[in-house]
Amino acid sequence: MDTLKYLSGYPEHLLARVRQLIDEDRLGTMLANRYDQPNTVRNDAQLYDYVQALKDRHLRKSVPLGKVVYDSKLQVMKHALGTHTAISRVHGGRLKASREIRIATVFRDAPADFLKMIVVHELAHMREAEHNKAFYQLCTHMEADYHQLEFDLRLYLTHLDLTRR
Ligand SMILES: [Zn+2]
Repeated sequence: MDTLKYLSGYPEHLLARVRQLIDEDRLGTMLANRYDQPNTVRNDAQLYDYVQALKDRHLRKSVPLGKVVYDSKLQVMKHALGTHTAISRVHGGRLKASREIRIATVFRDAPADFLKMIVVHELAHMREAEHNKAFYQLCTHMEADYHQLEFDLRLYLTHLDLTRR
C-alpha cells in the first residue's frame, strides 16, 4: 500500500523527510504542535456563514453561494480536495447561476486552518475551474499560507490513514 498517496507529485527530498517523520513516529506530534486550533465550525449552518464571510471579503462580485454542506460521502482526494458544482437554475425567468459547495466531513474534525484552506480552494473555483496559475494566485490572495497549508493537509490525511490502519 502506498503510504504517501496524498503526496504524489511532490519532490523526492520532501517525501524523504516525510518518510523519516513517519519512521520516527513524529508526524502526528509535529502536526498537533503546528495546528493547535480546533475547528469550531460544527454544522452546515455555521459552515454556510463561514464560507459566506470569506466570500464577502474576497470574492464579493462572484455568483451567489448556493448550498454549503459537510458531506460524509466525499472522499477528499478522489474529489480533488472537495467538489465544486456549478448549478444553473431558472430563477424568475432568468438563468441564475449559483454555487454549491460540499466539504468532506473529515474537515469538520480537522484543525481550523485546514478548513480555511479547503474553503479557500473551493471559493477559488468560483472563478477558475482548473488548478492553474490563476487559480493558485486566487488561493494565495485569500490565504497567504495556502501552499504550506495544502501540503500540511496532505500530511494530516497521511497521518490519519496511518493511525486508522
Ligand atoms: Zn480543486
